[in-house]
Amino acid sequence: MPTIAENLLNIHQLIRRYENYYHRETGSTELLAVSKGQSIDKIADAITAGQKRFGENYLQEALEKISHFNDPSLEWHFIGAIQSNKTKLIAENFQWVQSVENFKIAERLNDQRPEHLPPLNICIQVNISEEDTKSGVAIADVPELVKQCANLPRLTLRGLMAIPQQKKLLRDQRVECMKLRLLWENLYENANFFDTLSVGMSDDLEAAVAEGSTMVRIGTKIFGKR
Ligand SMILES: *Cc1c(COP(=O)(O)O)cnc(C)c1O
Repeated sequence: MPTIAENLLNIHQLIRRYENYYHRETGSTELLAVSKGQSIDKIADAITAGQKRFGENYLQEALEKISHFNDPSLEWHFIGAIQSNKTKLIAENFQWVQSVENFKIAERLNDQRPEHLPPLNICIQVNISEEDTKSGVAIADVPELVKQCANLPRLTLRGLMAIPQQKKLLRDQRVECMKLRLLWENLYENANFFDTLSVGMSDDLEAAVAEGSTMVRIGTKIFGKR
């Protein structure tokens, strides 16, 4: 069994290879290690190997990990569904929230972000493949939500996030990622730090890098099965 350090090295090498192949700037795709359902020990191994960014979906589990490591050099991203009664703890404990899908949640995060912390980085989650079962805002509603969120002073709107419908072929995966990229490019001017296109998981990594992803989110291929 490869170690977590070896898995991280392999994924970084794969990302660099795709960046090169698709004429992306080297290092322009960041890696978010999705650590939901993974143990403290495994996360500690990843930290030792140099990983700083972690994604979590479940608040209680995440809070235990954040307080266990209590390390300001780590960056915790909330990427799960958000219930409105959880926004306060999310606003107090995370550096990023990638799963904002309506204004009510954005406003609560803004109002509850503690004064002593910098503005909370957020991404708007888009239901890019327009699936009934997926979370995220509909494509048609994204521009309005971007405008609204850009006006909240305690949030920094960094970009868009999506979990595209699974497709087998690279070209079909690229079409899904491209839809998100085009939407993102058209919204650039609405926010000051709109630099994040969060797309790409284990099975569509190549397509995502080809289409300009700036942050891929990988769990199982780093830590093993949950
Ligand atoms: C779980 C999850 C991932 C990572 O999934 P893996 O299959 O473990 O690589 C990425 N993004 C989101 C939003 C997730 O919930």
